[in-house]
Amino acid sequence: MTTFPLEPGSTIGILGGGQLGRMLALAAARLGFDVAILDPEPGCPAARVARLAIAAVYDDAKALKALAEASDVITFEFENVPARAVERLLKLGAEVAPNARALAVAQDRVEEKTFLNQAGAPTVAFAAADDVESLLKAVETIGTPCLIKTRRDGYDGKGQAWVEIPSGATAAFKTLGSKPMIVEAPAAFRRELSVICARGRSGEIALYPLGENHHEGGILRRTIAPAEVAAATRDQAERIAARILGGLDYVGVLGVELFELETGELLVNEIAPRVHNSGHWTCDGCEVDQFEQQIRAVAGWPLGPTHALAHTEMINLIGDDMAEWNKLIADPGARLWFYGKREARAGRKMGHVNRLGPLKR
Ligand code: AMP
Repeated sequence: MTTFPLEPGSTIGILGGGQLGRMLALAAARLGFDVAILDPEPGCPAARVARLAIAAVYDDAKALKALAEASDVITFEFENVPARAVERLLKLGAEVAPNARALAVAQDRVEEKTFLNQAGAPTVAFAAADDVESLLKAVETIGTPCLIKTRRDGYDGKGQAWVEIPSGATAAFKTLGSKPMIVEAPAAFRRELSVICARGRSGEIALYPLGENHHEGGILRRTIAPAEVAAATRDQAERIAARILGGLDYVGVLGVELFELETGELLVNEIAPRVHNSGHWTCDGCEVDQFEQQIRAVAGWPLGPTHALAHTEMINLIGDDMAEWNKLIADPGARLWFYGKREARAGRKMGHVNRLGPLKR
């Protein structure tokens, strides 16, 4: 039985060893924790800053046992960890946070939007479709144009297609792999925003200022934070965050991707039960960043302050952007976060840079 708050010197296990795991590990180290990583790739970014790195697939029974034995609490850095891996960890008596329900909800777009609406967090209209027949019905219900997405495993805009006329739905279904889908009504948004929020073990909630997100080719390129938003929009974001976190009995950091409509009203696009790329601005723009916040939450520590210390622009370094590293290191205005990935493939997130300016009043 783990007792909370965890003492410095305890070990935090992390499923997933990419850049998010690496930054979690760095934050954990600063607070006196050791980290154990489970990731299929030997030498992954987090493995290189962890005390223990286990290279195995996520549902490898021996690897999960080793992780459970080494860790006082286990968290994850990406939401597509197989549910059976978490079930196995729980059977082994491990403490896992966020909980399995949050993971299940975030892994399936239909479950996610159903939960969000029940919790009082508005989304676009949607319908589920398991085969061509139900897809045609769903497209008729939602109307065209509409967006078809795979229910599971989509990321960075992958696994989705716009359908302009109902007869285009069958071809889209095949192109996306003939899997279960969700059909979504278009959101007429003027901006994409996100809010990074956290809930601690005693139920307290903390919310960072909203970020304004700009994507290129489906991948986040820039976040500007704090985003300039109306007070009513900020209030709505707070209500949405509280409903989601409370509704899931959540422990940890959660990213909420939002559409801001012309009216200033918000719709939730999706939730990520983990630290989030659009929260990387907090690494330099806030006193306690999202990574430390996640470690604090899962360790049962009080949450840290979330207000912005600076106006921050976060720019992702994607693929070949890293070739410019020697220019970036000479730029005193660039706060550097390089992930140590050896191979710069197109679309791969290699690092990010934060640029700070005075807070706008
Ligand atoms: P997602 O994979 O759900 O995060 O979607 C990737 C991107 O597609 C979002 O950041 C939006 O730019 C766009 N998008 C997703 N869903 C919708 C929607 N229902 N209406 C309009 N644009 C959308």
